[in-house]
Amino acid sequence: MKINANKLRRHIVRKFCHTSGDSERLQALMEYTQHLNDYILSEGKKWQANLPELQFLSGTRTDLGPKFPARYYSYLDELDKGEDYEPVDDKEILQEVARFFRGSLRSGSPNALFNMLPEASIEATAAAWLVTTYNPNMLMDFFGGEALLIEQQVCRYIGKWAGWPQSMGIACNGGKFTLLYAIRLAISRMEPESAKTGLPRDLVILCSEGAHYCVEHAASLLGLGADNCLRVAGTKDGVMDPNELQRVLDEQHLNGRRIAAVICSGGTTINFNCEDTCKILQSINDFSIRHSLRQRPYLHLDSVIGWIYLSTLNMDSESIFAHFSEPETRKRIAEVQRRLEGISGFDSMGVDFHKNGLCPYASSFFIASDRRFMDELGDGNYKYCDKDFHYGQFRTYRYTFENSRPGQGILAAWVNLRRLGRRGYADYLALLHRARNSVSDALARHSFFRVLNESSLGWEVVFAILFAPDIISLSQSHEELAMSFMQECWERVNAGYNLPLFSIVPGYRINNDPENIITAFLVYPMRQYSDEEWDDIVKLIAAQVNDFQDRLRSQQLSIERIQIDRPVR
Ligand SMILES: *Cc1c(COP(=O)(O)O)cnc(C)c1O
Repeated sequence: MKINANKLRRHIVRKFCHTSGDSERLQALMEYTQHLNDYILSEGKKWQANLPELQFLSGTRTDLGPKFPARYYSYLDELDKGEDYEPVDDKEILQEVARFFRGSLRSGSPNALFNMLPEASIEATAAAWLVTTYNPNMLMDFFGGEALLIEQQVCRYIGKWAGWPQSMGIACNGGKFTLLYAIRLAISRMEPESAKTGLPRDLVILCSEGAHYCVEHAASLLGLGADNCLRVAGTKDGVMDPNELQRVLDEQHLNGRRIAAVICSGGTTINFNCEDTCKILQSINDFSIRHSLRQRPYLHLDSVIGWIYLSTLNMDSESIFAHFSEPETRKRIAEVQRRLEGISGFDSMGVDFHKNGLCPYASSFFIASDRRFMDELGDGNYKYCDKDFHYGQFRTYRYTFENSRPGQGILAAWVNLRRLGRRGYADYLALLHRARNSVSDALARHSFFRVLNESSLGWEVVFAILFAPDIISLSQSHEELAMSFMQECWERVNAGYNLPLFSIVPGYRINNDPENIITAFLVYPMRQYSDEEWDDIVKLIAAQVNDFQDRLRSQQLSIERIQIDRPVR
């Protein structure tokens, strides 16, 4: 798009007196956004052009990589520079916008394979963008309008997949919020007075060993305390060990503790740990009856990733066959279907549309099987009744963490749900598994890669690099080699080379076996590519392994003791 600088300036100067939705303003927004984008792309290319060509891999500077080239700096030093920020001209604003993106992931890059990075659809992104331009507030429908109904329709839509005909919920900023809502709600249900009087001291929550690392922090933020979140040991299938679950439940009960909630895994980023929901339901019901509990522990499914499998719950074997052409994928889908069957008896679940719902950040939903949460998440002074559920009366701020709330995630999710429907998401799930199978096959074509997570029910690929024997003798451990190799790969991507950005998994448990541990690597395919394209991506990893080993042999490189933190995922 050609930018008319004067026109642009006119629009920008008029920054205090435009009208939302007026098409001239939208035009100006689009043009200015395009202008910013042209600038950051040209800056990115400039930074990249300063890089030396890689001798063993040419052509990795022609296109931008999975990251805008990064700059290394100290936060505290930068902040201490003590600049008096004077207003700057347009050109410097462009530079600041470009700086914002330095070192950040470019989700559109084919080499962005680090984690479950959203590949947002054009439709959902445009919808979210439009919400930004109109800027409605989701705190009540008098301000936010029908968006608040659509928020509930998203929840009902997915809730029905779980077998909850009365489901309602809350759009929120991330999966962690869905856990915060679940735990807070569980506490209120166990101890209704707590909304007014504060937390009782005898509550604990349980989750599985493989549950997301933020469960403890959620407990801590809520004042329950991280120590009152107990992890139950798992089996090789990545589910809570049923005997251990019984033991912990009874032990806590005997100690006079009340179990407010069991936070169940509904699929995790690595190994797709997913509880057998029927078994959990049975155990919790038995436990409650055995001890004549007044209130059964609250059951939440952390399905921020696994929700997409719910799209298949109503499929018979014939449609499974039609949707999932590969036998190994069909087996995985059938197993997850079986494990999720008990979800209809659960109280709530989490859904992250920004993970695998083809939506931009942040588009998470806490979905409850009914609407009791509206009262139970309140401050104890309000009960929702019929009159609240008419246009002009509906207010969410009484039960939400946030007061003013953004609406981008709501419209993005709804647009994709309506475009794709339940079957469309099942197709996307099929595509993800096809991608996993292609990547695994591509890795298997190289003798020094070994795929480790054959038994996972997800679509991630975890693999080991088998370094050559003479290389292993140069180092203290396989782990040290793996870490050094990862460090090198990350440094290249940070510098701006267009190479695969993948990840390392220190202490990976092969088949969830705590005795069978290795430092592994992780590739997260989120897109549809041909087998040849996956092959090319894997070749770029292989070329870096070869180079790493060559330089160690010729002593151009030595292994330094380095410490990589467990990467956040
Ligand atoms: C990603 C994830 C979370 C946290 O979600 P955010 O959207 O990053 O806040 C929680 N649980 C599981 C299983 C996850 O994969």
